Amino acid sequence: MDVVALGASPEAKPTNPKPTKPPGFKPMAGVPHTAVKSAAGTGHSVVVERCQICDAPDLEPVLFLGYLPPVNAMPAIGSRPCEQPAYPAQVLRCPHCSLVQLGLVVDPAILFPPSYPYTSGTTRVLRENFKELSREVASLYPLSTNDLVIDVGSNDGTLLSNFATRGPVLGIEPTNAGKLAIERGIPTYISFFNRSTIRRITAEEGHAKLVTATNVFAHIEDVHEVIESVVELMTPDGIFVTESHYLLPLVRTMQYDTIYHEHLRYYSLRSLVNLFDMHDMDVIHARPIPTHGGSIRVYAAGRGTYPVRDTVRQMLDAEERELTAEKLDDFAKKVAQSKLGLCALLRDIKAKGQRVYGVGAPSRASTLINYVGIDAGVMDCVLEIEGSHKIGKYMPGTLIPVCEESKLFEDQPEYAMLLSWHIAEELMPKLRQRGFRGKFIVPLPEPSIM
Ligand SMILES: [Zn+2]
Repeated sequence: MDVVALGASPEAKPTNPKPTKPPGFKPMAGVPHTAVKSAAGTGHSVVVERCQICDAPDLEPVLFLGYLPPVNAMPAIGSRPCEQPAYPAQVLRCPHCSLVQLGLVVDPAILFPPSYPYTSGTTRVLRENFKELSREVASLYPLSTNDLVIDVGSNDGTLLSNFATRGPVLGIEPTNAGKLAIERGIPTYISFFNRSTIRRITAEEGHAKLVTATNVFAHIEDVHEVIESVVELMTPDGIFVTESHYLLPLVRTMQYDTIYHEHLRYYSLRSLVNLFDMHDMDVIHARPIPTHGGSIRVYAAGRGTYPVRDTVRQMLDAEERELTAEKLDDFAKKVAQSKLGLCALLRDIKAKGQRVYGVGAPSRASTLINYVGIDAGVMDCVLEIEGSHKIGKYMPGTLIPVCEESKLFEDQPEYAMLLSWHIAEELMPKLRQRGFRGKFIVPLPEPSIM
């Protein structure tokens, strides 16, 4: 699942002006620190004037993908196009702490309206990843049977189910997915992750030896507040494990389509080390993991509590070679080239009067389609598996209808473009097996026909 609304409930009153940074927050040396405007509760968006980690004002532009509609802006098929917002997607890099971030924060109430559909986060890759995480914890930082494990944004409890046989676990989840977790025996506070929830938990359940937060760290506007809240939940020797999209594979494999307004930050390990350092925490272990097309798992703990493993230095070394300002510049040029390459490929297909159907409508497809400028004249429809809430709607910013997947096998279009191209190797044999006879277009990292 791509969304966890943390911090304030949607009904909460606007909280501007934003409170000052929490007590543990220390700006990086030499960087001025001022209060930042918050987008939450504004009903609009706020331009990022200062780095979201270190507060530096001189952010450098990396890439501009134009104005993108919110990925959930999917009107019903047949409705007339009407006014709708689109937000600039500019990517910026901080030369001080190296954080790569979006240049605009949109009010979460716009991105995650109450109607925002709950989609299960329990894909096979995710389930395996969580199992592997619990094995890694057991081997590197063994927990005793009394140690409490808390998952922030615990969804349907899949992650915690791997820790539950060992000892106490607790989920914190604001959506109805938390009820599914409770049904399967995972104790869950159905609540936003804010100070009052934390106070209640520490009073009723005690402190956690391990706190996990997967795929939520890039979505929340005030990341310092999140870390301070996690620290409050933990025992003094507690460990915080977080998983986020990782900038290195994003750049390496041209995953610019993962850039949209739900993802505020694109972390490198360097930027995370700097972030935790501001809260007197060490990153003690880190590794790349395969989820979401390439993510990073980071273990952090209070300064000096655990030795720092070699994995940290190794990953930082790789980043120093591959995530320089020049390499990011190269990346931006390649993004533009890949757009032109995909257009050329599609032009040749359409010149022959052939059909192109899209397969899969993940959030990232919206960025690809809108940035490349694919419309209903180019792509006849996008297909989703039966039961998807996206069926019967238009792709964001277009009049491309989303239809049920069986249409692919009935119509046998000449081409199927894989919009979940990061799992193309997994998808192609499945679609073949089910009877699709046309060719596949894999739009990225190099537009190609398979
Ligand atoms: Zn910075």
